[in-house]
Amino acid sequence: MLIDQAKIYISGGNGGNGCQSLHKDKFHRQGVPDGGDGGGGGDVIIEATSNIQTLLDYRYNQHHKADRGKHGGSNNKYGKRGKDVVLLVPTGTIIRNFDNDLIIRDLVLPGERVIVAKGGSGGLGSTKVDEATLGGLGQEITVILELKLVADAGIIGFPNAGKSTLVSRITHSHTKIAPYPFTTKSPKLGVVEYHDDSFVIADMPGLIEGAHLGKGLGDRFLRHIERTSVLVHVVDMAPMDETNPFESYQKLEEELKLYDINVYNKPRIVVASKMDIPEAAINLESFLQSFEGKIYSISASNGEGLKELLNELYKEIIDVKKETQKNNG
Ligand code: GDP
Ligand code: MG
Repeated sequence: MLIDQAKIYISGGNGGNGCQSLHKDKFHRQGVPDGGDGGGGGDVIIEATSNIQTLLDYRYNQHHKADRGKHGGSNNKYGKRGKDVVLLVPTGTIIRNFDNDLIIRDLVLPGERVIVAKGGSGGLGSTKVDEATLGGLGQEITVILELKLVADAGIIGFPNAGKSTLVSRITHSHTKIAPYPFTTKSPKLGVVEYHDDSFVIADMPGLIEGAHLGKGLGDRFLRHIERTSVLVHVVDMAPMDETNPFESYQKLEEELKLYDINVYNKPRIVVASKMDIPEAAINLESFLQSFEGKIYSISASNGEGLKELLNELYKEIIDVKKETQKNNG
């Protein structure tokens, strides 16, 4: 699974101290204790929202502390409670205790919240105790935030079909998803900026024959595409090994069908890649003699056809999203 994560250091606010004070006047020559309690420290709360998509901010802002409580005062003045700090995270964020690896909470719905570090309690003033007490310390904790990312579109195709080149060409250079220690074999995510919107695509490397049998690593890769809305099948129109593009296309589709019929049934956009290479045109022509349906001819090298592809891809993603929303009421 693709994971966006951040490690953050959190502390609740310290409690304010209780006040040691005696009120003296002509009626109370010995003095009457009038020291107020300190205020409690603020809590640090983590709350899920659907307005944020990544944990990127937390990779740069790692320290979060709630306000301390105010000290108590004489004349029975209570210290004010410290303000809470609310950290907003995307829905789907899992909060884990860094020290013991235990999950504190899995925030699923927008508005769900959990106190991760409580503020210290306020100290007691001399009205309550002989010796005013100090405020308690706020809780401290280091947590790992983890977000499982789901790509809107998955790019599939045999090795060398041109998947990675396509992804790097259409994703924004200042991608909002930070670089993770992906190996060359795990899917790579990229954010495509489309007009005022954006969507996430995943480059699925290494889809190999026999994947449905769990052979090699193919099965693991296929799992990643189970949750995407649309699949983009990239067919190499100028394969170095001179395999027949239509046969390759069929082989890969067959793999998908055998693996999981639900994945196979996802909307598909078929792409003819490397159209800048002269022989690609000839191959495409014979491909179209067997293939029925729409095919998007592109060249990731010179940019040909990419605009049309993105328009269609975006349209499909929106359609699937609308459909899903309708089905979820
Ligand atoms: P992947 O294995 O499917 O990710 O394929 P890559 O994106 O790594 O591309 C495989 C090879 O094809 C690389 O040498 C690319 O430079 C080349 N390639 C990819 N797209 C194009 C293209 O549009 N035109 C040409 N001429 N070569 C391409
Ligand atoms: Mg690749």
